[in-house]
Amino acid sequence: MTHSIDVVIAGGGVMGNATAWELSRRGVDVLIVDRQQPGRATSASAGGLWPIGEAVGLGCGVIYQATRSGKDSTDAVPEMLPEVFRDFLVESNSRFPELAGTLQDRTGLDIELGDGPGLLFLMNSVQQQAVVDNIARGLPDGFILELLSTTDVAELEPAVTTDIVGGALLPGEFQVNPMMLAEAFKRAALAEGARLQHDELVSAIHRSGDRVTGVTLGEDRIDCGTVVNAAGAWAGRLAATAGIELPIEPIRGQVVLTEALPPLISTCISTSSCYLVQKHHGEVLIGSTTENAGFDSSVTEVGIRDLCRGAVTTVPVLTDICIKRMWAGLRPGTPDELPVLGPVSGLEGYANATGGFRTGIVAAPLMARVVAQSVVGETTDVAIEPYLAGRFGG
Ligand SMILES: Cc1cc2nc3c(=O)[nH]c(=O)nc-3n(C[C@H](O)[C@H](O)[C@H](O)COP(=O)(O)OP(=O)(O)OC[C@H]3O[C@@H](n4cnc5c(N)ncnc54)[C@H](O)[C@@H]3O)c2cc1C
Repeated sequence: MTHSIDVVIAGGGVMGNATAWELSRRGVDVLIVDRQQPGRATSASAGGLWPIGEAVGLGCGVIYQATRSGKDSTDAVPEMLPEVFRDFLVESNSRFPELAGTLQDRTGLDIELGDGPGLLFLMNSVQQQAVVDNIARGLPDGFILELLSTTDVAELEPAVTTDIVGGALLPGEFQVNPMMLAEAFKRAALAEGARLQHDELVSAIHRSGDRVTGVTLGEDRIDCGTVVNAAGAWAGRLAATAGIELPIEPIRGQVVLTEALPPLISTCISTSSCYLVQKHHGEVLIGSTTENAGFDSSVTEVGIRDLCRGAVTTVPVLTDICIKRMWAGLRPGTPDELPVLGPVSGLEGYANATGGFRTGIVAAPLMARVVAQSVVGETTDVAIEPYLAGRFGG
């Protein structure tokens, strides 16, 4: 059977749902198609909103660098993302307070936008301290990174070890509930008239010459004006069905969640071996490995042990508490750690909405807007060029 629709969005994680909302509120007829694959990233995420932290490498990025360099995590030094993307993340993050209110009004859902002192990076070595000093000096006016002594850290976070050389606080960088965010985007899109085909796989994207014409769903073929590829870590595989090169690779992140605890930490704590965030209901989320393990989304003894070791070293009282759950998710990773958005040169009727990697939650509001704007031909809020797939060549 053949059907026709304006836009088919392949993937119903935070990116697919946010893009569906942005398109449907512009009057576009949208169908979201989602098959929940083991390891889908949004529901595995920590929900950290750490725009500067991630951009300067003091969030999950420092763990990524430690893994990539193979160094002892106490010596790992952060690496910066390009300034243009730092500004993108800051802009996207600034939209959360208004977004939370809008989504609550339209869907009744609370995305649990937290409000705490910020992201606190703990420095384990003088080498890390020197790098962080440099980062602080290099930040432009208006970006705040407060350097804290060990005593300052102890006052702010009494549960944290004093066996550190200091801390760096990024005020205003906090957290959200990523599942509620994705669900709220989805419900807001459905309220605007979008449709959802749940538990269905887009098995192929159809192409006729330099035009994408539709998708295959089970036995059905759906013709459409545009296919938006929001298939997360699977986006490269899906693009390949239409001969489109998209270098997305799954980067596994393992996570440990403790039992619910009384208030223990007030900041999102980041170190080069793990990060810790206390969630809305009191559980402490300990994340996260950054591994190339293909599409294997299982947890490993080594991964969980390393995270637990990092957590109890950082917050010693965690030694005596119980683990409630552990899981792993697959980040849609890109070679340069930047997202992949918008059209592909020389091909009509196709747009990428993927590559959120380790910042796909904080970046989602702006990523989705930019993709939707490019699909309907509006001027994009920020330049899309740094995020086009064409930057990879091919
Ligand atoms: C452990 C971990 C911690 C993280 N922490 C943070 C954080 O603190 N802050 C932050 O900003 N980011 C974080 N991230 C990154 C962020 O979660 C991701 O970048 C983001 O969720 C990606 O969203 P997505 O919609 O692109 O992909 P997904 O959420 O994976 O959604 C893709 C969806 O498409 C479906 N799908 C795949 N192929 C098909 C197909 N062919 N047809 C139909 N459906 C398909 C999948 O099953 C899935 O439901 C973290 C990620 C992980 C794994």
